[in-house]
Amino acid sequence: HKKALIIGAGIAGIAAAIRLAVKGYAVEVFEANSYPGGKLSEIEQNGYRFDAGPSLLTMPQYIDELFQLANKNPADYFRYQKLAVVCHYFYEDGTRINAYADTEKFAQELNRATGEPAKNIIKYLANSSDIYNITNHVFLERSLHSLQTFLRWDTVRSIFKLPRIDAFRAMHQANAGYFEDARVVQFFDRYATYNGSNPYEAPATLNVIPHLEHHFGAYFPEGGMYSITKSLVKLAEDLGVQFRYNAKVDEIVVINRIAKGISVKGENVVADIVVSNMDIWFTYKNLLQKHPALHPKKIMNQERSSSALIFYWGIKKQFPELDLHNIFFSTDYKAEFEYIWQEQDIYKDPTVYLNISSKLKADDAPDGCENWFVMINVPANNGQDWDALIDTARKNIKQKLSKALGEDVSKLIVSESILDPRGIESKTSSYKGSIYGTSSNSQFAAFLRHTNQSSKIKGLYFCGGSVHPGGGIPLCLLSAKIMAASPPAP
Ligand code: FAD
Repeated sequence: HKKALIIGAGIAGIAAAIRLAVKGYAVEVFEANSYPGGKLSEIEQNGYRFDAGPSLLTMPQYIDELFQLANKNPADYFRYQKLAVVCHYFYEDGTRINAYADTEKFAQELNRATGEPAKNIIKYLANSSDIYNITNHVFLERSLHSLQTFLRWDTVRSIFKLPRIDAFRAMHQANAGYFEDARVVQFFDRYATYNGSNPYEAPATLNVIPHLEHHFGAYFPEGGMYSITKSLVKLAEDLGVQFRYNAKVDEIVVINRIAKGISVKGENVVADIVVSNMDIWFTYKNLLQKHPALHPKKIMNQERSSSALIFYWGIKKQFPELDLHNIFFSTDYKAEFEYIWQEQDIYKDPTVYLNISSKLKADDAPDGCENWFVMINVPANNGQDWDALIDTARKNIKQKLSKALGEDVSKLIVSESILDPRGIESKTSSYKGSIYGTSSNSQFAAFLRHTNQSSKIKGLYFCGGSVHPGGGIPLCLLSAKIMAASPPAP
């Protein structure tokens, strides 16, 4: 058997392991942490369980595909349900919106709450669908760096339609042109944060994201988000993949521009191919530091996506008006993003995302209680005084939620853990703690993500949120798919 080594057991590393094992490689995965999943992990806290990072599952078909590829029945490993209401939205002026999955119902709801004509919403989502149909097979499902992609008929057809993907104005500008009501503009601007970007800068092409949520749907795994990691690790192990934990890789051994293996804890492990699931920046800076001439400097200097500050609160009460996903909008969205992107700071009235997995998975919290995952978008780590920022943010968030819910939430918090950009950086080796790799604030971002196969070092491949096609679980899974198509079957 030819051997493949994978550095990192993030979701893309695990998917890559499965794909290469199915292809016939003997696969070994080296993970620095004592557990798999990277950002997609979980924490326990005084009888409360929390998914540590991602909470929104879209496009679960890319997970199912891995089981099918291995000739297994996905439902034997991983089950999930479709959400009828994707998210509850709360505005400071008292407006509340239930984002129904059903398009017609959703358009009616936005009309009821804001007066925005339902036909505008339907038209907008049709445009979103158009962008998806033009871009998906060019920008998401294939390599952007292979001539073959551009020789395909569907790519050529898409290229002729590229003016329709609205790449030359900002998302906010497009949305403000579409809708009459500022609350609806804010609603759709928020999708920029799904990949850690800024709606006032990111190209309107990102208006494709609502299509993913409203057309393909939002889902919740029966076992919580961490069951994605657990079930894929189980599948990988069933296919013979070996996982080594507490195994931080120090070097990718390269001789004459060929990846020969890795060095881990003073030991050299030889392989036919090496796949890095690590953040691309640390891969070059740390593991390939002996080869500065081979570093892709332009790509490494790309602006990083935003990061997150999360409070995991054990709450000793239940709130029937809250759902699995809840958003409490800032009154001044523009100011919030200026703080994040220009000031590298946190705005005093941030948009708060509140996820409560115990709404659908009751054993995530004790009886009569709820597990609150409270997250705000914050800048990447540039050495800010995070302890001070966290204290202020905690106070502001408590005030905001208390006002919206008509109850002092600080009295209900029985336990707390925190994850901030420093923690994201140290726990998952993500440069600056950014959560989606590089930002998509420029229309060229897609072309400035690292390829899934090195053009300078033979036998070296890449997957994960910091390389093509980008961050978020579905794209990470696609990165593994594109990567695994390249190495020859052994
Ligand atoms: P990562 O999860 O980054 O894992 C990389 C792994 O490599 C880590 O386990 C790390 O320990 C390991 N590693 C690093 N260096 C070494 C080394 N030298 N040796 C060995 N191992 C090493 N996505 C969604 O789809 N929906 C969401 O709702 C969502 N919300 C998010 C919320 C938060 C707070 C965060 C942090 C992320 C969120 N994301 C979401 C993004 C999503 O989590 C990521 O895009 C995805 O999990 C990244 O996977 P990855 O394969 O790139 O690897």
